[in-house]
Amino acid sequence: MTAEKIILDGNLVAADIKGKLVDRINRLSEKGIVPCLATILVGEDPSSATYVRMKGNACKRLGIQSIRVDLPENTSTDELIAAINKLNADPNVHGILLQHPVPNQIDERAAFEAISIEKDVDGVTTLGFAQNAFGFADFPSCTPAAIIAILDYYNIPIEGKHAVVIGRSPILGKPVSAMLLNRNATVTTCHSKTTHLEDVVRLGDIIVAAVGKPKFVQGDWIKPGATVLDAGYNEGNIGDVDYDACLEDASAITPVPAGVGPVTIATLLKHTVEAAEKLSLHVNDGILFIKE
Ligand code: NAP
Repeated sequence: MTAEKIILDGNLVAADIKGKLVDRINRLSEKGIVPCLATILVGEDPSSATYVRMKGNACKRLGIQSIRVDLPENTSTDELIAAINKLNADPNVHGILLQHPVPNQIDERAAFEAISIEKDVDGVTTLGFAQNAFGFADFPSCTPAAIIAILDYYNIPIEGKHAVVIGRSPILGKPVSAMLLNRNATVTTCHSKTTHLEDVVRLGDIIVAAVGKPKFVQGDWIKPGATVLDAGYNEGNIGDVDYDACLEDASAITPVPAGVGPVTIATLLKHTVEAAEKLSLHVNDGILFIKE
């Protein structure tokens, strides 16, 4: 008899997260507050434009306001930071998302750092990243948080498991490694200089693929019974995992699309609502106090 295989349904997890936000959004609305996410898109990269549109539509469906700031391809770092500062100062904006990647002439790190911590709903600032590493971030990066949310939704144990993360980007591989470590997994983080990668992956009870290469993780790299989470999103809706091949030995696996992606968006909405709730604590007798 073959063991039951779980297809980790991101749409289901996303619906659960969004469903829990409805009351919270209504309560904010009673105070006259509409949660608002501002998304900045620099240039005309078609995939980035699609992601931004998807995020905007998801906001609209839930009654969250979304502001889109489109800047031209030749925007300078200073111009981008000026746009971010304007959003930082706007009391009606609760979350700021700078769509990655930005054009080469821009210092992306400097731009991320300009986002005020209260509005850093994707955990991209140094402070947000550090808070996540310490385990007390208000807003950990959305994709890492989505991966943990999927594991939790399906009651997949993390503690004591060996998690192998492939990728070490500041927005994905590193923060998800920290989150898994904070949940008492034993974590191995792999990257482009890792030797004998497939042997390392074979040790994993939980595999997180965050590489940016279509169908990179092969079926015979998967230890029988492992859980596979595919954060990859490559052209043509293709993940970083060879899904059909890995399905054979995995006990649980996320598909692409409809895996990590929708949960990432739901997490972004959740963080935006939470940012609005935090700010609402400073609303007093109709006067809004913004923290310095
Ligand atoms: P990234 O910044 O390009 O990082 C890729 C990582 O993979 C790097 O750490 C790199 O190692 C590592 N890598 C590259 N080739 C490798 C190899 N041959 N063996 C082992 N490791 C290798 O990408 P990212 O922003 O983290 O995104 C990763 C994937 O997730 C992409 O497919 C992206 O589209 C997707 N993504 C999805 C969501 C979502 O919501 N689902 C959100 C964000 C990103 P080095 O550090 O040594 O270069």
